[in-house]
Amino acid sequence: MFETLSDRLTSVFSSLRGKGRLSEEDINATAREIRLALLEADVALPVVREFISRVKERARGEEVSKALNPAQQVIKIVNGELVEILGGETRQVRFAKNPPTVIMLAGLQGAGKTTLAGKLAKWLAADRNTPLLVAADLQRPNAVTQLQVVGERAGTPVFAPEPGNGVGDPVQVARESVEHARRNNHNVVIIDTAGRLGVDSEMMQQAADIRDAVSPDEILFVVDAMIGQDAVNTAQAFLDGVGYDAVALTKLDGDARGGAALSIRHITGRPIMFASTGEKLEDFDLFHPDRMASRILD
Ligand code: GDP
Repeated sequence: MFETLSDRLTSVFSSLRGKGRLSEEDINATAREIRLALLEADVALPVVREFISRVKERARGEEVSKALNPAQQVIKIVNGELVEILGGETRQVRFAKNPPTVIMLAGLQGAGKTTLAGKLAKWLAADRNTPLLVAADLQRPNAVTQLQVVGERAGTPVFAPEPGNGVGDPVQVARESVEHARRNNHNVVIIDTAGRLGVDSEMMQQAADIRDAVSPDEILFVVDAMIGQDAVNTAQAFLDGVGYDAVALTKLDGDARGGAALSIRHITGRPIMFASTGEKLEDFDLFHPDRMASRILD
C-alpha cells in the first residue's frame, strides 16, 4: 500500500538532512519534489495543487517548532497535510435513532460491494449489532447466491427474493427488507445493490429508486482503489447520479500508488469511512486518516 509515494517522500526528506534551516530555495525545491511524488502516485491534479500550496504556506510560516531540524519540520508539515487531505477525523457510522439503521452500498460491478457487505456485517456484529444483509443486486444471476455465501461466512442472515419468483424487483426487496428487519430485531440493514462494469444511467436510476424507497441513513460508495484516477471519475458520477454520505475504499492491499485514497475526499467532499485490505472478511476497518498518513511516512 502506497509504496511508491512512501519511497519518494523518504528520499525527499533525506535530501534535507544536515541542513541548518529551511531557505526559500529549499522550500521550493522540496515542494517540487513532493509535487512529482504525488503526481506519480496518481493523485488528482487539483488535489496536488492544493496540497503543495498548503505545504509551502506552512513551511514559510512560523508555526513549526524551532526544536525540529528542516527534515523533521517538513515531515511534520507533510504529515499534517496528508491527514487533512485524507479527511482529518475518522468518520464513524451514524446509527438511526429508530432502528433499523439502513446502509446502502452502491458502486460498479467488481468494486467489492458484496465482499464489503459481508465484512461490514461481521464488523458490526462484533460490536453487538444484529445486521441483516439484503440482496438487492438482482441483475447478475449469481449475485444473490454470492451474497448468501458471504452471509454464511459472516454469520449474518440474508434477505433475498424467494427463489422461483422470477427476477424480482430490487426496490421491492429493499423495502420489504426494512420491514423484515424491524419485525426480527435486526438493528442494521445492509443493502447490496447492482453494479455495472461502467457508469450507466439505468443502474444509477435503480440505485436512486432504492434510495428513495428506503431513505438510507448511510449511502456508501464502494470503489476499487486500484483503478486510481478512474475511481475519482466514477466517484463524481455516482455523486451526481445517486449521491452518497461516505466512501468505502476496497483493494487497498493491491494499491501501490494511493491516488484514489488521496484524491477522493477532496474531489467529492465525502469522507472515506471504510478501508478494505484483502479478500478475507477480517481485512476491513474504519478508515483512520492519521494512521494512513503515518503509514505513508513510515
Ligand atoms: P461486487 O461486484 O462489487 O459485488 O464485487 P465483489 O465483492 O464480488 O468483489 C470482486 C472481487 O474483488 C472478488 O474476487 C473479491 O474477492 C475481490 N475483493 C473484494 N475486496 C477486496 C479487497 O479489499 N482486496 C482484494 N485483494 N480483493 C478484494
